[in-house]
Amino acid sequence: MKMNTTIDNHDSDFLSSVEKVFEEAAGILNVADDLKEKIKVSNSTYIVRFGVRLRGKLFTFTGYRSVHSEHREPVKGGIRYSMHVNQSEVEALAALMTYKCALVEVPFGGSKGGLIIDPTQWNANELEKITRRFTQELAKRDLISPAQNVPAPDMGTGEREMAWMADEYKRLNPNDLNTGACVTGKPVSKGGIRGRVEATGRGVQYALQEVFKHDRDLAFAGVTGGLSGKRVVVQGLGNVGFHAAKFLSEEDACLITHVLERDGMVVDEEGIDIEALSTHISEHGGCKGFVGYESDSKVGLQADCDILIPAALEGVINSTNASNVKAKVIIEAANGPITYEANHVLRDKGCLIIPDLYANAGGVTVSYFEWVKNIGHIRFGRLQRRQHERKTRQLVSGIEQMTGAQFPQELLTKIVAGPSEVDLVRSGLEDVMCQTYQSISERWHADDDIPDLRTAAMIIAIERIVSSYESLGI
Ligand code: NAD
Repeated sequence: MKMNTTIDNHDSDFLSSVEKVFEEAAGILNVADDLKEKIKVSNSTYIVRFGVRLRGKLFTFTGYRSVHSEHREPVKGGIRYSMHVNQSEVEALAALMTYKCALVEVPFGGSKGGLIIDPTQWNANELEKITRRFTQELAKRDLISPAQNVPAPDMGTGEREMAWMADEYKRLNPNDLNTGACVTGKPVSKGGIRGRVEATGRGVQYALQEVFKHDRDLAFAGVTGGLSGKRVVVQGLGNVGFHAAKFLSEEDACLITHVLERDGMVVDEEGIDIEALSTHISEHGGCKGFVGYESDSKVGLQADCDILIPAALEGVINSTNASNVKAKVIIEAANGPITYEANHVLRDKGCLIIPDLYANAGGVTVSYFEWVKNIGHIRFGRLQRRQHERKTRQLVSGIEQMTGAQFPQELLTKIVAGPSEVDLVRSGLEDVMCQTYQSISERWHADDDIPDLRTAAMIIAIERIVSSYESLGI
């Protein structure tokens, strides 16, 4: 067994964990060995070492872009900036992207990239220079292109980095009308879509809302009642963790009792004010100094709670701590937070695990909407909004004439306004998250050989990829 890169134990590393789940699901489906092998392996992984002159000196950076499967193109996947980035991690993330896109019916293949860098050690000007140089290296090999390979934000990157990448790509391809679609997760002013920043965390919220409508699934974990009042632990208050925690506490009345960060954790059994904590972290670089701060965050993953949301990095729940985890439901907002071995321990304890390839698919789903917007060159809802308003007013006026009563003003204002772009994005995302969960849950219960939601999700993804390969004649 290979050593995990982020944790000190002997569990399967991230790539092996993904491959083992794939093997089990493909085995249940009886996929032929040769096709199984073709789907499982990454098609290519590009490693680049490039120099950037900064602070009077030449620094050499190492970056990766892995393409797992091109059965649909473009291939899609984030770019991560972290000191832990390595080939095996990038290949695991690229493979997950293939399965994730197939599962949520987003017409992309899987890819992922990363740069070995600690973004906190460089200022914005330096990061821009490094990102633009990395983009040039990727562009040379069509590893960034609206038609072939479309990066997005991931850990350590966000709208700012995507704007730099899009701009650099545009400079290199001034005659291409579709350059805006070369990356997603851009700021709205640079062709991004409203609702993309929140999308992954919003998707986690929609996923949990749907899970809590499935009594049979909840019964597996001994959970009763609705989401309201459920006690939640969140690891990582970055893009994904922050939005998930914010929406669950503000809109679903969940109590976020623990937030675990790099420098410790914050505990408040009455529920943490997520906005206030996030502001504190931005201003002070960590959660130290916030009310309820404790320096040792390790115990946080084992806190007594209903729902655990690991939203930071992979391998954090492993065979050294899985048996002590008390959460009844774990939703994998991060990619690969539970090792293959820990998954078995938790499942045997009756913990309901909502797997990463479904749980954090909100990001790629809204990235797909952004890509469609970019190649369509028009904002969603732009043509229909006024017409919707006019038709609704006519309908209301008809009802008033027929009944002789006046339509309630408050309701009128709500129903007359046509959908904005963010309304449409959220509606599309909610639909994807709800429909997908229903199909995974149904599949799990329909077959005694399928042990959990993760295997069920992987089975659905593999079926679609197999069918795509078969129709290609490969
Ligand atoms: P981010 O960089 O915005 O946030 C990560 C957060 O985790 C940061 O607040 C960081 O301080 C914290 N963190 C890092 N190490 C930690 C540790 N050891 N203990 C506790 N906290 C720690 O990254 P993100 O975009 O939110 O991504 C988080 C996870 O979600 C990753 O696994 C990523 O692949 C996955 N993901 C992200 C997206 C997206 O749209 N951004 C989409 C799908 C999946």
